[in-house]
Amino acid sequence: MTDPDSLADRVRDGELRIHELEEHADHDVAAAARRRLVERETGADLETVGEYGFPAERAEPNVENMIGAAQVPMGVAGPVPVHGGAADGEHYLPLATTEGALLASVNRGLSVIRSAGGADARVTKHGMTRAPVFRVAGVAEAAETVEWVEGNLEALREAAESTTSHGELLGVEPYVVGDSVYLRFAYDTKDAMGMNMATIATGEACEVVERETPADLVALSGNLCSDKKPAAINAVEGRGRSVTADVVIPGEIVEDRLHTTAEAIAEANTRKNLIGSAKAGSLGFNAHAANVVAAAFLATGQDEAQVVEGANAITTMDTRAPADGDENAPADLYASVSLASLEVGTVGGGTKLPTQSEALEILGVRGGGEPAGSNADALAEIIAVGALAGELSLLAALASRHLASAHEDLGR
Ligand code: NAP
Repeated sequence: MTDPDSLADRVRDGELRIHELEEHADHDVAAAARRRLVERETGADLETVGEYGFPAERAEPNVENMIGAAQVPMGVAGPVPVHGGAADGEHYLPLATTEGALLASVNRGLSVIRSAGGADARVTKHGMTRAPVFRVAGVAEAAETVEWVEGNLEALREAAESTTSHGELLGVEPYVVGDSVYLRFAYDTKDAMGMNMATIATGEACEVVERETPADLVALSGNLCSDKKPAAINAVEGRGRSVTADVVIPGEIVEDRLHTTAEAIAEANTRKNLIGSAKAGSLGFNAHAANVVAAAFLATGQDEAQVVEGANAITTMDTRAPADGDENAPADLYASVSLASLEVGTVGGGTKLPTQSEALEILGVRGGGEPAGSNADALAEIIAVGALAGELSLLAALASRHLASAHEDLGR
C-alpha cells in the first residue's frame, strides 16, 4: 500500500521507520505520509506546509524526513547599479524575510545609492577554511609537525586538489596549543560556497600529514575553521569571501532623500556602530548587516547557519568635501560596509532548489560563472551593496529620528 494514509499507519505501527518512506513511495507521497503521521499525533493542520511548488525529489540532497516547505515571503529591492570586480550593471536584489519594513528600508537605501550613480564593490580575499586538529606528544612534536607542513605545501596541495576539479588550496596556517596542532587549510572554491569541497579535500591532505609526521588526527574540524560559530578569526582573517562595498552620496541627496545630513549620519555611525559596539565587546561593528545577509541567504539557497559569520561586518561613514567644490554646499557622505567572511555559492548546496535557483537567475548568477568563481564573486558583491543600503537607510532613520515613526507608518 503506497497511499499516504496507509504508509503513515505502517510508521505508527513500527513496520516502517519515518526516514524509510522514500523506499516505498515517491518523494511527494512519502512527504504526504509524514504529514498525515504528524497531523494525527499532534493535531496540527499541515495543509499549507504541503503546498510546495516543486517536486519533493528535487529537495532530496537538502533535507531528510521532508514534510513540505517553510514558505518565507520573498520580495525584491532595487534595482541598483553595482560597479563590481565581477558584478556589473543594474540588479534587483531578492530578499526572503518575515521582517516587515526590511525590504522598504533596503529599497530606500538602494534608491539613494542609485541616485548617487551606484556603488563600487570588490571581493578582496577568498578562502574557505577547514582546520583539522591533531594530537601530538608535546611541543617538540608539534614543532616538528609545523615544520613539515610549512616545507611540504606542494604535497598537501597535490593530495587536497586530487579530490576536486575546481578547488585550489591557497595555504595552510598552523596553530599550536600544547599537545594539539591545528592546521587551517584555505581554499579558493570558485563558485561553490565550498564547505563540502574543502572538507573532502582536507580529509585527503590529513592522510599525508599523518603519514609524514608524528601527528594523529583527532577531528577533521577542530573549530579554528570556524564554521557557524561567532569567532574573531573569521572577522580578522576572513572566510569564504571578504567583500567591501562603498559609495559617496552627494550632500543634497542626503538632505532631500534621507532627511538628514552627512555629519549626523557619520556621528550616529561612530557613536553607535563603532564606539557602542566596542563597549559591548561585539564582533559586529554595523547596524543590521545580518538582516540583508540572512534574507539574501534564504532567497538564494545559501547555508542559513552561516549568517553567523556572514554578518561579521564593519560599517564606516564619513563626511567628504562636496565633489563640486562648492564651499556652501552640504558635505557629501562616504559610506562603506566590509563583510569579512561572507560564505556564498551559486552552485551546490541549496542553490539548486527551484525557487532559490530562480532567485539566483534574477541576479544573473545562477550556476557556474565564466571564469569559474565569477558568479559567486558577483553574488557576494551584490549582497554587500544590499547590506550597505540597509546600513544607510537605518542610520539615516536614526540620525533623523524617523526610525520609530517609519515602523509605525508601516504598521509593524
Ligand atoms: P557541494 O555541492 O558539495 O560541492 C560543489 C560541487 O560543485 C563540487 O562537487 C564541484 O565539483 C562542483 N562544481 C561545478 N561547477 C563548479 C564551479 N563553477 N565552481 C565550484 N564548484 C563547481 O557544495 P559545497 O559548496 O562544497 O558545500 C556546500 C554544502 O555544504 C551545503 O549544502 C552546506 O549546507 C554543506 N555544509 C557542509 C559542511 C561540511 O562540513 N561538510 C559544513 C557546513 C555546510 P568539483 O569539486 O569536482 O570541482
